[in-house]
Amino acid sequence: MVEHIDVLIVGAGLSGVGAAHHLRAWCPELNYSILEARDAIGGTWDLFRYPGVRSDSDMYTLGYGFRPWTGAEAIAQGPAIRDYVRETAREGGIEARIRTGHRVKRASWSTADARWTVEAERTDTGELVGFTCNFLHMCSGYYDYAAGHSPEFAGAEAFAGRIVHPQFWPDDLAYEGKRVAVIGSGATAVTLVPAMARTAAHVAMMQRSPTYMVSRPSRDAFADRLRRHAPARIAYKIVRWRNVLLQMFFFALARRRPAAMKRRFIDGVRGLLPPGYDVETHFTPRYDPWDQRLCLVPDADLFEAIGAGRASVVTGEIDRFVADGIRLASGETIAADIIVTATGLKLQLLSGIEFTIDGEARDLSRAMSYKGMMFGDVPNLSYTFGYTNASWTLKADLVAGYLCRLLDHMRRSGAQIAIPRGDASVAEAPLLEFTSGYVQRARDVLPKQGTTKPWKLHQNYALDLANFKFGRVEDGVMEFAGRKRRAR
Ligand SMILES: Cc1cc2nc3c(=O)[nH]c(=O)nc-3n(C[C@H](O)[C@H](O)[C@H](O)COP(=O)(O)OP(=O)(O)OC[C@H]3O[C@@H](n4cnc5c(N)ncnc54)[C@H](O)[C@@H]3O)c2cc1C
Repeated sequence: MVEHIDVLIVGAGLSGVGAAHHLRAWCPELNYSILEARDAIGGTWDLFRYPGVRSDSDMYTLGYGFRPWTGAEAIAQGPAIRDYVRETAREGGIEARIRTGHRVKRASWSTADARWTVEAERTDTGELVGFTCNFLHMCSGYYDYAAGHSPEFAGAEAFAGRIVHPQFWPDDLAYEGKRVAVIGSGATAVTLVPAMARTAAHVAMMQRSPTYMVSRPSRDAFADRLRRHAPARIAYKIVRWRNVLLQMFFFALARRRPAAMKRRFIDGVRGLLPPGYDVETHFTPRYDPWDQRLCLVPDADLFEAIGAGRASVVTGEIDRFVADGIRLASGETIAADIIVTATGLKLQLLSGIEFTIDGEARDLSRAMSYKGMMFGDVPNLSYTFGYTNASWTLKADLVAGYLCRLLDHMRRSGAQIAIPRGDASVAEAPLLEFTSGYVQRARDVLPKQGTTKPWKLHQNYALDLANFKFGRVEDGVMEFAGRKRRAR
């Protein structure tokens, strides 16, 4: 027996649980289920276990719009975020709809039946389980769960210590009193270095080139004050909007006046480091602010560790690993007992699932994204991909809300199929405009965006809010079909 579900969600992370909440609240007549490959709820916030793992955007915008973040810290620790997602699932009765240990492998659309057939593998038995659904909503995140990005380093086999990737942090890694080299200077490295430096003998952060960094307190004094005096929901809304607007303002400023913002960021870092520190070499990026994601340093912890001599930054090309550490192209050797390759994620949209439409294989990396949540000429399929310049959940909430509007429109009009009709005259552009290595490497596996509405991604919450909440569902691009079958 193949089980039929109205809306099938793939992934029980922040996005999948949020989407389930929206469906429950706004489309109570539809049944839904979540298929989750892992044995746990929480996605990213359950998977990543490296020391100090935390958010790098504030929880007032990384939290759901519908559920106030009541934790003490605005920049929260990974386990606290995981608990927040799990509590949302528990309180909403969503947990009972989640089938863990089900990895979706294939999805085939049939126009004649107006439904998807989805094949999932049970991770405990390897058995294939079939489902059918009217609508498939992908919340499988944006990176490969099975593998991180690990460039090959010459001499890796010669290194006498342990090599660790942050995505697969070993429970038994003892680093107290050890010398650690962390390769990379992105969000993960910037989190790991001060956290490990608390007990390690020394931590060296090794980078080819610097990243923009900005320090903020991990607690938000304004939010704390407001929460003492106003009801939680109202305080949350106010702080959320303040943070959204501030973030949009500074992003726009950085794009308009890159030189001024560059100076501001670099001077900010200089002020937190010991006098005479070589900021030009280690903290002056070669690109403009927001060409790549900005790195947050809560409570200046990284700079404190550097100031105290517990951590250092090494900028240069790695030549090879040697038995007792890493040799640079300059000839210098950085001694290490443990090497952490914080070299990034392997981007992957839609989890590598094989998609077929009416018997024909469809490579969705070649498709054009519609509103950043569906694909041209692909029926009844939506996905969540958050902002690159703001918190992921802001977009995830909008996408889930719009999906409910679309499903409601289909229910009222009796349409069974919703398909954004592709337009060959719209020019293609890359989905993400970042110059970061992990984005450039993934250009071929990510779908495209268009250069005009509704194919263009705004990376702007206010514009998207207007569009997703109030824009017409029948926008001249979205076609609805299958009404006759329903009427009969
Ligand atoms: C270390 C780290 C820190 C981050 N910090 C921030 C931050 O501060 N702010 C921010 O905005 N963003 C941040 N991000 C991005 C972050 O991933 C998002 O904020 C958010 O957690 C994404 O949620 P999601 O539910 O869309 O995806 P995920 O959290 O990736 O969850 C996807 C879920 O789908 C499941 N899944 C995948 N494929 C399948 C399949 N084939 N079948 C069944 N299930 C499947 C996975 O097992 C997983 O549970 C961070 C990312 C990382 C890695």
